[in-house]
Amino acid sequence: MKNNLRLTIDLLPKGAWGNNFSRTLPKKDWDKIRNHCYVKFDNQCAICGYSESKLDAHEVWDFDLKNRVQTLMGITALCSACHGVKHIRNSERIGYGENAKRHFMRVNRCNEMDFAGPMRKHNSYLMKETKS
Ligand SMILES: [Zn+2]
Repeated sequence: MKNNLRLTIDLLPKGAWGNNFSRTLPKKDWDKIRNHCYVKFDNQCAICGYSESKLDAHEVWDFDLKNRVQTLMGITALCSACHGVKHIRNSERIGYGENAKRHFMRVNRCNEMDFAGPMRKHNSYLMKETKS
């Protein structure tokens, strides 16, 4: 299994699902934050470097599961393809799971075997979270 992956799949605890600034902040505040983020990253995806007119602002969280604390570590600019890998469950749900998988392999310069490990880890984490 390849260890030094540039693009990884986020593992979000159930309590964090749908709990993000784009949904909870007033639109004008979120727009200000995300526009600052796009400038900071020179209007390029922080992972693959792709430059497109519409980037996504991705919240990077640290989860202290024992104490149930969620800490914002930063906000990065991502292209929609990289963002789709980060939230691969959503990508699968809307029919873009295969695209996300291909993008994961292209950015990480790896094969399906290298994708299978992180995907298995994601699926087992997801199964555990949906049971609780
Ligand atoms: Zn990207």
